[in-house]
Amino acid sequence: MKIGIDIGGSHIGIGLINNNGSIVLKIEKFIKDKTNIKEQIEEFITETVIEMGLTNEIESIGIAIPGTVTDNKIIKAVNLGIEEYDLASNLEKILKIPVKLKNDAKCAALAEQRYGELANYENSIFLCIGTGVGGAVIHDGKLLEPDGVPGFEFSHTIIQKDGELCNCGKRGCFETYASLKRFKQKVSDRFDLNTLSGKVIRKFIEENPDNQMIKEMIKEYVDYLSIGISNIINIFEPDAICIGGSFSEYGNIFFEPLKEALLQGNLLFNKRNEIIIKYAKLKNDAGIIGAALI
Ligand SMILES: [Zn+2]
Repeated sequence: MKIGIDIGGSHIGIGLINNNGSIVLKIEKFIKDKTNIKEQIEEFITETVIEMGLTNEIESIGIAIPGTVTDNKIIKAVNLGIEEYDLASNLEKILKIPVKLKNDAKCAALAEQRYGELANYENSIFLCIGTGVGGAVIHDGKLLEPDGVPGFEFSHTIIQKDGELCNCGKRGCFETYASLKRFKQKVSDRFDLNTLSGKVIRKFIEENPDNQMIKEMIKEYVDYLSIGISNIINIFEPDAICIGGSFSEYGNIFFEPLKEALLQGNLLFNKRNEIIIKYAKLKNDAGIIGAALI
């Protein structure tokens, strides 16, 4: 038995995983207030694991982190407001179980490669599009990771000179234009919706199929998204791309336009007749399942 934990921007999910990679028990907590966030994370994890009463049977704990992990330490998780944090050592001291950390998009990529939509491809790209844009590359069946630093920060590649300010401090990052949060914020502001709820915004879009302003906003979003994704395709020439995160909840609203922009736009260096893009199969559980695979 292993434990996989997914720490997101607004919630923590803890799963007990059997040898087939299935979640046999899942306990979640929502983070309403980010004050004392480190204490909240440590307390919830230690209490939950101890309450499971299986500490002698658990081989390891893997944790998916929404940020940069180096040498098993959190260097920076901007959406949580955390920097330089040795979460693994703190948990190991109390639980006496080995704890390993990895970036959440990389965990989700591992899970999709083992049990999900990327299982049949040797060379693939995983993208997690939601609050931010995370990514990972599978090459010859293995997750690519440079020594020392995590790498593959697609989200912080610049696609607009002197563009909008990103959370990372740079300007014009892919994430600043292609995160769903930005799209939702723009739609919400333009139509006074007063919400960032994905469900409400999707419904609003679906109920107004002929609204010219919405059409333009979708086009602008897909234009930026396809520029960022085409840059990744031009470098890695993957056999398949898998997209996870709340992006998949938008069904065909972006999916078909994105495919069309990639295939018919002037973005790909090596033209393709077909491009395999899949929605992640493991959905919200990918982080937990992948963390247990670290
Ligand atoms: Zn950035």
